[in-house]
Amino acid sequence: MHHRRVLGTVFAVASLAALSSFSFAQGQEQGRGQGQGQGQGQAQGRGPAQPEAPFVVHQLKPNVYWIEGNGGNSGVIVGEKGVIVIDAKTTQAGGKELLDNIAKITPKPVTTVILTHSDGDHVNGLAAFPTGLRIIAHENNKKEQEAAASAGGRGAPPAGHLPTEVISKNKSSLKIEGVKLDFYHWTNAHTSGDLVIGLPGDKIVFTGDLVSGGVKADPLIHKEKNGSSEGWVTTVKGIAGIKAVTYVEGHGDILTTAQIQQRVADAEARRAKIKELVAQGKTLDEVRTAMGDSPTASARFPSFTTVIYQELTAKPGA
Ligand SMILES: [Zn+2]
Repeated sequence: MHHRRVLGTVFAVASLAALSSFSFAQGQEQGRGQGQGQGQGQAQGRGPAQPEAPFVVHQLKPNVYWIEGNGGNSGVIVGEKGVIVIDAKTTQAGGKELLDNIAKITPKPVTTVILTHSDGDHVNGLAAFPTGLRIIAHENNKKEQEAAASAGGRGAPPAGHLPTEVISKNKSSLKIEGVKLDFYHWTNAHTSGDLVIGLPGDKIVFTGDLVSGGVKADPLIHKEKNGSSEGWVTTVKGIAGIKAVTYVEGHGDILTTAQIQQRVADAEARRAKIKELVAQGKTLDEVRTAMGDSPTASARFPSFTTVIYQELTAKPGA
């Protein structure tokens, strides 16, 4: 069992102003994460701003941790001479609190950051990190960040912290700080640049937001980043096929292989049912009603049902 230590502080009202400057995407995903766990900070009625969950450090192995709070979960791997961090939180303050928590675990410096995808609630905390680090991401993640950086404005990645090294292959491995890491990418799913990170020695996998929000939450597909529900099924089947003991998801608690398999089965059943309804000529509204979609579910992003419907009804070449 992993033990649980509360080391951090609660980002309270003072951080709301900062939170409100995030992109809608980040607000959405924070909401998903919070819904899974602590049951706090739910009542914020409007806008993406929500009270932030406290930082909680979870130890999985003598040198492997995951840390929740301020956006997506982060992984921390203490290597021979330095620390590898997976995902960097949402804000500069969150990134700093992450680094402060790591400093309580080990005096070794952070040398490497690996990004699971390009969403700001996993990337933008890099603003608090020193420059000159090795930053590894899928090649499409880097392209998405470059596009967001040149567009500028809210949610743009922090200057000086773009990936320094990209992964292009579907399966590759690197030894970093004496630790073997496996990198997986199947196809477009949550975004076009998803990267799954495995620690084969410890049978731990970090999924990013490919899996997020526990066993019941719907997958979130970023169509604006060329995500795909069909690609999601392929990808999460691949993730289950790694047969890790522990999966650290993007937001929410750790999962088992059986729970990942269940999520794939649920998504495939949903696709099959929607395919039937489309064949019967049902409209999107009828399909969403039949599938029990919450009327507010698509306030910021199309629901999983909507994405599936759009993919199944898209005209070739459209
Ligand atoms: Zn995401």
